[in-house]
Amino acid sequence: MATRRKLIVGNWKMNGRLTSGLNLAKEIANRAIESMPLEFDVALCPPATLLWPISEALMGSPVMLGAQDCHYANHGAYTGDISAGMLADLGCRYVILGHSERRAAYEETGALIAKKVAAAQLAGLVTIVCVGETLEQRATGTTETAIVQQLSSSLPEKFHSSQLVVAYEPVWAIGSGDVPETDEVSSIHRLIRRSLGAMGEAVQVIYGGSVVPHNARDLLEQHEIDGVLVGGASLNSDGFWSIAEKAR
Ligand code: PEP
Repeated sequence: MATRRKLIVGNWKMNGRLTSGLNLAKEIANRAIESMPLEFDVALCPPATLLWPISEALMGSPVMLGAQDCHYANHGAYTGDISAGMLADLGCRYVILGHSERRAAYEETGALIAKKVAAAQLAGLVTIVCVGETLEQRATGTTETAIVQQLSSSLPEKFHSSQLVVAYEPVWAIGSGDVPETDEVSSIHRLIRRSLGAMGEAVQVIYGGSVVPHNARDLLEQHEIDGVLVGGASLNSDGFWSIAEKAR
């Protein structure tokens, strides 16, 4: 049976200013330093404006840095965008791609996300690719088909499994307080692994959607759940660290 390290990722979304963001990152870095050596991996994904100051603040701590999106091109005339190479340059290790908020608000397609995954992996980043069913797909019993389709269309033809994390994030669970049963999550994670073929056992598959301190242990105890992607609850250092510690 494959042993995979647990990964705890904080997705701050569009939250945090210079002072508040730095304080939050420093508090988490200090918790991590006190708990060293860490038996699990921790990454923070602040908004792009905070990547560089937080990169500096995390130096000397085991907490890693991630971004919330990137462009597929390496450089060029793309006003307002940020390339994967630029993120790597700032010290990012991870990038979240295909989050449902971006798929919905910016109509990001699987084809576009696949191009971003290829570019980010080329830049040396670990890509956290998000997939998840809507409430309607769940209600009509098409969850499994939707997940398999989303995942296969969001991955480029060639990718490195060592630079891939899949985040299963049911759209209806994000920010709603509703969380699927752990058995359901495990079964979707098994489906994701199967659909990745031979490499599936080695790929970290994490869960996201309304993870809070009181439901984190149940989730993180499951063999199939290799970590959590935390939105709202990652904005408070006590709450976030209490979730992370459940991965011990
Ligand atoms: C997310 O949007 O990635 C997420 C998991 O959000 P929340 O934890 O707030 O549901």
